[in-house]
Amino acid sequence: MSRHKHAHPPSETEVKVKALESLLIEKGLVDPLVLDELIDTYEHRVGPQNGAKVVAKAWSDSNYRARLLDDSTDAIRELGFQGRQGEDMVVVENTSEVHNMVVCTLCSCYPWPVLGLPPVWYKSAPYRARAVSEPRSVLEEFGVFINKEVEVRVWDSTAEVRYLVLPMRPEGTDGFSEKQLARLVTRDSMVGTGLPKSPRSIQWKAHMIWVERRVWAELIPKWMNLFFTMSGKNELLHLHWQLDFLESGIWICPVLLVNKWNMMNT
Ligand code: FE
Repeated sequence: MSRHKHAHPPSETEVKVKALESLLIEKGLVDPLVLDELIDTYEHRVGPQNGAKVVAKAWSDSNYRARLLDDSTDAIRELGFQGRQGEDMVVVENTSEVHNMVVCTLCSCYPWPVLGLPPVWYKSAPYRARAVSEPRSVLEEFGVFINKEVEVRVWDSTAEVRYLVLPMRPEGTDGFSEKQLARLVTRDSMVGTGLPKSPRSIQWKAHMIWVERRVWAELIPKWMNLFFTMSGKNELLHLHWQLDFLESGIWICPVLLVNKWNMMNT
């Protein structure tokens, strides 16, 4: 029996993809360097963070917003976002009267340069069908409750045109920089199945990051003291640092755990 161990066996799909990739490279149909470049692009360089920059700029610069609604492809290209599946973009603006939502009823057309690759649910048959027949119910399943007086408009992205939703700027963000605003923009808010985050949520998160840093700043010197006295001859000092370390662990560990839990749930 082989003693060679794998972390986990590859799935059937992974094996098929690998076989196809090897065959295409072997036949000279695909350059492995180009393939690596493509994977790196879609893993690291394109994603909702690009769309968030577009939205944040539109929120803070009314001239840009006007250009974005007038000629979306050009205005998005101004920020350096262009390429496949983003050649013809249309940005639709949410207002107090209209909430926009995007779907591709036929397959999975999605604006890659600004949102990256589509999530699984976007490509699923139920979303594609129900987004059109019962958009409000679908929105409710995403936790988005749209007032009855607000019209819900559903846009069907196609190979020709890709839609991006410009969500409404959240209340309480006066004086926010574009960078701060971009942190409030979620992927789903640009598809229309979500809303931007509230400014309070990121302030709370920033506070928790501060708490965590303070805790580590407290803990690290204690570890260092313990480490340096371990090899020393002074038994009393050694014991003192051990007790100090144990005592700090009693309150620091729960603080870190609670903080982590809060961070994951906000
Ligand atoms: Fe499609």
